Amino acid sequence: MNRRKFLKAAGVGVAASAVFTTNLYAKSVTRLKVCLSWPKTLPIMGEGALWFAKRVDELSGGSLKIHIYGANELVPALGVFDACSKGLIDGFHSGPYYWKGKNMAFALFSSFPFGMVADELEPWFDFAGGMDLWRELYARYNLMPFKGGNTGNQMGGWFRKPIKSLADMKGLKMRIPGLGGEVMARLGVKPVNIPGGEIYTALERGVIDATEWVGPSLDTIMGFQKVARYYYTGWHEPGSILEMTFNKKKYERLPKEHQAIIEAATREMHARIFSEFQYQNALKLQDIISGKYDVKLGNFPDDVNEAAKKAIIEILNEYSNKSKDFAKVYENIKSFFPKIRKWTDTLPKWYLDIRDSGTIVD
Ligand code: CA
Repeated sequence: MNRRKFLKAAGVGVAASAVFTTNLYAKSVTRLKVCLSWPKTLPIMGEGALWFAKRVDELSGGSLKIHIYGANELVPALGVFDACSKGLIDGFHSGPYYWKGKNMAFALFSSFPFGMVADELEPWFDFAGGMDLWRELYARYNLMPFKGGNTGNQMGGWFRKPIKSLADMKGLKMRIPGLGGEVMARLGVKPVNIPGGEIYTALERGVIDATEWVGPSLDTIMGFQKVARYYYTGWHEPGSILEMTFNKKKYERLPKEHQAIIEAATREMHARIFSEFQYQNALKLQDIISGKYDVKLGNFPDDVNEAAKKAIIEILNEYSNKSKDFAKVYENIKSFFPKIRKWTDTLPKWYLDIRDSGTIVD
């Protein structure tokens, strides 16, 4: 029996059959403008935002359209927070540490030097109060944040000269933003913040002596391996959280179904971006290890690491004394961080010994 005959036989008219081809949602389309603090073409992060828009479109049957604008297309890269807060745009993909100047507590939502790593941050946000605190503070700016990816642990940076002891750090000009930069300043480094597009030339010409960026995944695309030979592991960004944040009033006016779709799609994007960072970092690190570039890979000397640990504890305590919001978020972290670290440290010593010497399939 063909379809037409079947429908006739079943007593179902043409009008009813149309139900099967129409999407589940109303025909009206809601459109949201989301701006990025990076180009749309930036691998992993910009591409992740575009993927999010596509996913929202699929999940909503086309009834919710996210229009993605790269950095500076509608508003300046770091103007997205204010623009969204005022309702000039509907959302943005960025990182909470950029807004430390508005409220220093925001720096804590990106993790901080020697702080929690990606798999420790997840339960902090979801179950230990991190997300509630973030939303409570952002609500003052009419903003509603969601996790928007995690870069995973970042590399300490590229240096033109080797770092053999703490003395070698003194007087270095290094591009390093945020709390990492403040730690470096206490080690005698002169931290500078220059836009991503200008770092390569500044490093090549010796205007700066060192830079951090992300990790092998994105650093090798920037070409830093051509102009700095020494690449060190680091502690300044152990698991930087990105954000997909919406104008709160606009978000609250969306139908519940659309809110649920945004909740689900941001979670998917968040997981996808972290997963891709891990994947790309692994592949690109292998290029460095295999000698594809003339790069020396290493760790900072112990005296640098010890001085940095001391510095971040001082900074966190100083900020807690200056800001009630910072103190409140930091107190929450202080109660949870040791517990989760105890758990993530339960990998037994023999496992770590095997891990240090490679994997079982080497
Ligand atoms: Ca970085």
